[in-house]
Amino acid sequence: PEISVNQLLARSVEKYPDHTAVSFYNHTLSYAQLYGAVNRVASALVQKGIEKGDRVALMLPNCPQYPISYYAVLACGGIVVQINPMYKAQELLHVLRDSGAKLLIAYEPLLPTVEEIKDKTDLTEVITVSFSQGKGTFQTLLEDRGYQIPTVAINPREDVAVLQYTGGTTGRSKGAMLTHYNLVANAMQCIGTAEIQIEYGRERTLTVAPLFHVYGMTCGMNLTFAVGGNMILLPRFDVEEVLETIEKWRPTGFPGVPTMYIGLLQHPRFKEVDMTCFKTCSSGSAPLPIEVLNKVKAETGAPIAEGYGLSEASPVTHRNPVRGLQKPGSIGIPLPNTDAKIVDMATGEQELPPGEVGELIIKGPQVMKGYWNMPEETAHTLRNGWLYTGDLAKMDEDGFFYIVGRKKELILAGGYNVYPVEVEDVIYSHPAVLEAAVIGVPDAYRGETVKAVVVLREGATLETEELIAYCRERLANYKVPRLVEFRSELPKSAVGKILKRKLKEEQSNLSS
Ligand code: ATP
Repeated sequence: PEISVNQLLARSVEKYPDHTAVSFYNHTLSYAQLYGAVNRVASALVQKGIEKGDRVALMLPNCPQYPISYYAVLACGGIVVQINPMYKAQELLHVLRDSGAKLLIAYEPLLPTVEEIKDKTDLTEVITVSFSQGKGTFQTLLEDRGYQIPTVAINPREDVAVLQYTGGTTGRSKGAMLTHYNLVANAMQCIGTAEIQIEYGRERTLTVAPLFHVYGMTCGMNLTFAVGGNMILLPRFDVEEVLETIEKWRPTGFPGVPTMYIGLLQHPRFKEVDMTCFKTCSSGSAPLPIEVLNKVKAETGAPIAEGYGLSEASPVTHRNPVRGLQKPGSIGIPLPNTDAKIVDMATGEQELPPGEVGELIIKGPQVMKGYWNMPEETAHTLRNGWLYTGDLAKMDEDGFFYIVGRKKELILAGGYNVYPVEVEDVIYSHPAVLEAAVIGVPDAYRGETVKAVVVLREGATLETEELIAYCRERLANYKVPRLVEFRSELPKSAVGKILKRKLKEEQSNLSS
């Protein structure tokens, strides 16, 4: 991995210039076309004054301009700042100010949000991307200036390629500094774990996971380019469109998230779609209920495997093997060159034996350099070369890991630890349930009480008492939800993660 992220792309450009690198509806870009566009945009950025180490922010949905901008910024030696296009003005302001971005490349319809806060940032220019013909200033960057950008020397281990702001699922968003080395290493580690035969120049990745998120960036984009494959982009998760794309493009890989699989399972046509094209369908970013894993396997035969990662680790650290021993409910085993341990959650020091729950810590080439401008947070999260994930987990005798919840989401009910994932798995196994989130709510007597927020399947009925009785048969008393709330939907992040923080906030608003 001692190369820059750009070199990863350049190698495939050299080997497969005419292969399709990006598909977006009826629009395709070959590797040669993609690289040509990257270089033209990079030369425009250099002429706009972008130098090594400068931050350039991207606020775009999945579209061909994404990889072009991303690799162009890196070609100038710049640092890509990834921004969620769903951010509202205040969230955007935080990331722009924190990163000190000089330029912003934004989707044109988002301009009103940008305008609200632009004056309070260091931005010198906002470049706009539009899908309407002739609109958006990005077009002018693609013109040939006849100007060759000077080669920028990159030290892969030291130089930051991307500021990946954490999802903010549990708190204020922090910028994880991912170096070229981190990102190249993680793409290569993921390739190295696939027990499947990778056919260089022939893989096709269904990329509906957003590229601004670390999972889409590495597993959708960088990994695909590293193997000379075709990144099939979709700008949003629409079940019908995903099914049509599977039929039309016959993708070989799909980095998905649990809510996507839940959505697909709901669709009457999902069972009928021929999924034999897939070599691997992964699920990451949030717990995959065992019920969902089993259903996808049973109904489609798709080779689905759960993995785990976090922004701070570029992101992937664990993965279940697609073939051989795969354990439902487990995040699998560490990737090659990755060490993982379970340590005492209070002290963070003593390593725990198999079966005991503690904090998951990780060491490997994919682990970030630190948080941007946050020395204290960095010192707290990176200790002696280990990344403290903030996730609670256990390891079994075979070395398979299981996430039981986040440290911040651990429920302390009447002196007992309740791990939300365990309770959620039981609730998901009820046939009437579509989605569920288990949270702790303040309780004067117990400290916290277990509460389940549940979405039912269309047409299904379920009473609170029925669900509680169902849980009581399968869980120790202290884990059984005392409160149940039925809703039509759950709040979700841009990657489809259920936002428990929002549910908890609503709860404290109710009680205050
Ligand atoms: P923030 O860290 O700011 O609160 P975030 O956690 O959403 O936001 P990400 O880096 O996007 O930031 O997500 C990483 C987290 O996602 C992990 O720490 C873990 O809690 C969760 N996660 C990822 N994969 C899995 C999985 N397979 N099972 C359970 N949890 C997972």
